[in-house]
Amino acid sequence: MSLSRPRALRRAPFAIAAAAAGLVAVCAGAAGPTERGAGPVAEAIITHALADTFARDILRELCDEVGPRLAGSEGMRRAHAWALRSLREAGADSVWTEPVTVPRWERGRESARLVAPYEAPLAMLGLGRSEGTGPEGIEAEVLAVRDWAEFAARAAEAEGKIVLFAPPWQDYGTNVEYRSRAASRAARHGALAVLIRPAGFGHNTPHTGVMRYEDDAPRIPAASLTEEGAALLARLSRAGLAPRVELVMEARNLEDGPCANVVGELRGRERPEEIVLVGAHLDAWDTGGGAHDDGGGCAIMVAALATLRDLDLRPRRTVRVVLFTSEEYGGHGGRAYVEAHAGEVARHVLALESDSGTFAPAGFSVRADSLTIAALESYAASLARLGADSLYAGWAGVDIGPLVEQGVLGVGHRVHGDEYFRYHHSPADTWDAVRPDDLAANVAAVAAFVYAVADSPDPLPRPKDR
Ligand SMILES: [Zn+2]
Repeated sequence: MSLSRPRALRRAPFAIAAAAAGLVAVCAGAAGPTERGAGPVAEAIITHALADTFARDILRELCDEVGPRLAGSEGMRRAHAWALRSLREAGADSVWTEPVTVPRWERGRESARLVAPYEAPLAMLGLGRSEGTGPEGIEAEVLAVRDWAEFAARAAEAEGKIVLFAPPWQDYGTNVEYRSRAASRAARHGALAVLIRPAGFGHNTPHTGVMRYEDDAPRIPAASLTEEGAALLARLSRAGLAPRVELVMEARNLEDGPCANVVGELRGRERPEEIVLVGAHLDAWDTGGGAHDDGGGCAIMVAALATLRDLDLRPRRTVRVVLFTSEEYGGHGGRAYVEAHAGEVARHVLALESDSGTFAPAGFSVRADSLTIAALESYAASLARLGADSLYAGWAGVDIGPLVEQGVLGVGHRVHGDEYFRYHHSPADTWDAVRPDDLAANVAAVAAFVYAVADSPDPLPRPKDR
C-alpha cells in the first residue's frame, strides 16, 4: 500500500506559508461575534480545503487498497493501519487505538438461482449476521408477499417455503424493517429462508445490511435480492408459476473478538480539556469499497484536521477525531467510547458525525431544541457559499448516540443524499461513486464549522432536556 507518503509532498509550501502568516495575526486577537464562523479564517479554511487533494487521496486508498473491512476482520486491521497513518500524516498531535469487543461474521461464498419454471441466476447478497444454509443449500418454492399485511394474511402458506418480502421502496426507515425483522417473522411460521427486496435501489443491485434474530424464532438464512429479481419472482408467483429458488450461503457467525476505535487529536491551545469530537465509522460492509458508507466520512474528518494543521490553526479547544468500529453491527464502537471516557463525557462540548455519504454538503442536523440550534447558527455562517450553512433539528448519528444520550450536543453532517441508497451497503459503493469536488466541499464545510466551534471564546450552547 502507498500509505506512507511523506506529509510534505501534499503541502503547497509557498501558498500555505503566505496564508498562515496572515492567519496567525487574525487568530491572536479576540474573536468578535462575526469572527465565530465567518471572516478571513473561515475563508482561508474553505479556500484551502477546496484546493487540497488529501481527502481524495486517502479515501481512494481506503476504498481500493484497504477494501472490505467488517468489524473484527483482517480487512479492519488493514483499515486501522490506514487510519493511524492518515491521522499522523494529517498532523494530529497524538494518535492511538482503543479496544472494542465486536461481533464477528463471515459471508463465505453465496449464490441464488431460479430453478423453476426455468433456470436463471439471481443477483443476491446475504444479510449481515445471517446464518448460512449449510453446504447443500436450500431449494424450495417461493411464497412472495408484498408487505407485513399480506404476510399476516398468508402466513399459513409459509411452511417449508422460502418467503420473499417485496415491499416497494418507500424510505430507508420503512424498508429496513424488512431487512431487520423478516427472518424471525417468517421463521415462526415454518419458513426455511427469507429473501427481501433490498432496502435501497439501483440497477439490479442487491443491498446487504445487518439483520437480527429474535430469541423465540428459529434462525433461518436471510438474503437481499435486487429490485428486479424480487419483482420477477413476485410476477411469476402471481402468474401461478410457483417459482422455486436454490439459495446457498456459507455465512457463519463467529465468537466475539477484538477490534478497536482509532483516535487522533489536535490539542487545544487554551482549553485543551474541552473536547469537540468529530467522528465517522471505519467499518464497512464487504461489498464495494465502503466509499460513501462511511469511508467518505472518515476521510472528511481526518482531512478537516489536516486542513487546520496546514494553516497552523490551533483552536482553543481540543479537536478529537474518532473513527469508530462496528457501527454496521449495531454501534459497539460508540458505546465502548463512552465507557472508556466516562470521566470526561461532560467535557465534550459538541460531537459531530458524518455518516450519510459524501455528496454535496447541505448543512447540519442538530439533536436539540430550537433555541440551541439558533445559538449554533453563527458558527456555520461562513458556509453559505458551499450551500452548507443551514442548521435544523434532526438526527445526529449512531456512533455519537451514546454521548448525545448523556447530554452532549450532537450534530449530524448532512449532504444532498437523494442518491445515497443507490450505493448504500451495495457493490456500487466504490471510489467511482465519489465526486472529488463534493468530497472537498464537505471537508471545507466540516473544517470551517469545527474550527469556529472549537475556537469560540464563548461557552457552547447546551441542549435542553428533551
Ligand atoms: Zn454508515
